Amino acid sequence: MLEVRDLVVRYGTATALDGVDLDVAAGEMVALVGANGAGKSTLVNTLSGILRPASGRVRLDGRLAQVPEGRQLFAALSVEDNLRLGAWRNQRSRRDPTRIYELFPDLVRLRSQLAGSLSGGQQQMVAVGRALMADPDLLAVDELSLGLAPLVVRDLAAHLAELNRDRGLALLLIEQETTLAFDLCSRAYVLEAGRVVATGPSAELRASPTVAAAYLGGL
Ligand code: ATP
Repeated sequence: MLEVRDLVVRYGTATALDGVDLDVAAGEMVALVGANGAGKSTLVNTLSGILRPASGRVRLDGRLAQVPEGRQLFAALSVEDNLRLGAWRNQRSRRDPTRIYELFPDLVRLRSQLAGSLSGGQQQMVAVGRALMADPDLLAVDELSLGLAPLVVRDLAAHLAELNRDRGLALLLIEQETTLAFDLCSRAYVLEAGRVVATGPSAELRASPTVAAAYLGGL
């Protein structure tokens, strides 16, 4: 579904991604892990077209939606308006957020509240819900766990797993938190200084010294 080949992305003269290859098959859950500054956000922002690559190729069969790092909600708009904004490119019939409320029943009682008044976990639910309003085939989630309590993260992760299982949604989980990423995704890529330094089944990467080294290198 997603095929990234030899991708190079630069900020001015600084190379943020240096020949990255990455694949996500339809219905697959794949993690992209790496320390601070490894290039994870750069990759997602290139997939979604926010950044233009210097060279390389991105092929995507289907629609991508992104849950951006830091959630990026409209704080002064209601939960419901934030959700509706996620469907701005969809036909009229799909702008109804009912299915998002079915997935996240906690949002029903919050629907008229301003997004800026919600807890971090609630905001992350809205951010995921807003991305789902675009009816994606692939959902890229940038730092699901950032700033959230472990229980809240576990609940959100369970929702993502359910979406994958029940609706076949493919997921690219971009995470600094390797435990979460390896638990949720069967396969992972490890990014260090703009290069993929390890890839394979999460079970194998969990104990890999290369992964530990990638994190130490980023400190
Ligand atoms: P984090 O978890 O901190 O977001 P990351 O793995 O997502 O880290 P990126 O944000 O993609 O990493 O950054 C990759 C590299 O590109 C870093 O060296 C960073 O300093 C640099 N970088 C990121 N954004 C810019 C920018 N707008 N201008 C210049 N350099 C940038």
